Amino acid sequence: PMYFDDDASLSHLDGKTVAVIGYGNQGHAQAQNLRDSGIEVIVGNRDDEYADASREAGFETLPIADAAKQADVVLLLIPDEVQPDVVREQIAPGLAADDVLVVASGYNWHFGEFAVPEGVDVVMVAPRMIGAAVRSRFESRVGYPCFVSAERDASGSAFDVALAVARGIGATAGGAIASSAREEAALDLFTEQAIWPAIFNVLRASYDVLTEAGFSDEAILYEMYLSGEPAEVFDRVARDGVFEQMKLHSRTSQFGQLGGIPRFAEISGEATELMRSVLNDDILSGEFAKKWSRANSGDADVLPDMLDEAGSGDLPKAEQRVRSRARDML
Ligand code: NDP
Repeated sequence: PMYFDDDASLSHLDGKTVAVIGYGNQGHAQAQNLRDSGIEVIVGNRDDEYADASREAGFETLPIADAAKQADVVLLLIPDEVQPDVVREQIAPGLAADDVLVVASGYNWHFGEFAVPEGVDVVMVAPRMIGAAVRSRFESRVGYPCFVSAERDASGSAFDVALAVARGIGATAGGAIASSAREEAALDLFTEQAIWPAIFNVLRASYDVLTEAGFSDEAILYEMYLSGEPAEVFDRVARDGVFEQMKLHSRTSQFGQLGGIPRFAEISGEATELMRSVLNDDILSGEFAKKWSRANSGDADVLPDMLDEAGSGDLPKAEQRVRSRARDML
């Protein structure tokens, strides 16, 4: 179900102090939206340029541990990878029964990357929108997709508070979507680990076939994505739907696209199996979370080597050549 402004009452935050921990991408937007909704907001941040920005915006800005201790409702808006340590050392000690911890992504909570004291409610309010748009859409009263859930309801009113926060940040203007940390995390990981890798492989296979035919790197890459055309198509897909937007293409294009779908259905059986395995064996089983946590506990950052390896294929090399020749167009 979806929840709109009328379903969410800000009164569940009456008399409560809300601490926004992290005045970054989401933090600066959510803090300002909540304040403009009439809620008492303080900010918790390390004492650096983010803290300066918060003070300049007029927020009482405290060290993270102090803000967490002082507040009744704590919004965790720091990067996911630093949350386990920061929660354990600076936030959990300041949480007491009847406080509410609000997460903006489900991963750490669902996979047990941090714990919070008994009696503390845990809810999720997870915008599917970058911070700048969370702010601008609030100002223009346009909603945006946002997942909400009560993850631990010690008080009996956790979901009401989640909806109040969602309304305070402007998310119920368009309808907040009931979800769970498990669903939010799994969908996010699935998009990253199945959909995008599948698309990268389609682009790579296409590049190989087109190169074999003797077509130039420039022509292939501009046609495939460097022109930005696919971004425009996806924009229309979001607005009009996958098939509805197809009517904007030429008749030749429509005839070709629609004829191609059944031909490629053959590979989709195999892809479905692979996707099922990614979802069940890697994501929902917690295997990926364990693997990522192990990778992060080592001394060396594993990502640079993985990026180097991925970047050494024929397609990324062709992309570099084209980019270096056509800098002014890109
Ligand atoms: P940011 O990367 O913008 O967070 C930066 C903030 O975190 C700054 O205030 C920074 O302060 C603080 N921070 C960074 N490292 C540390 C640290 N080690 N200790 C204490 N504070 C630290 O985060 P986002 O806004 O992108 O993400 C916040 C949450 O929102 C995450 O859970 C994310 O998954 C979720 N989310 C993000 C979206 C997005 O569009 N980015 C969309 C929806 C949800 P300083 O460096 O001064 O310490």
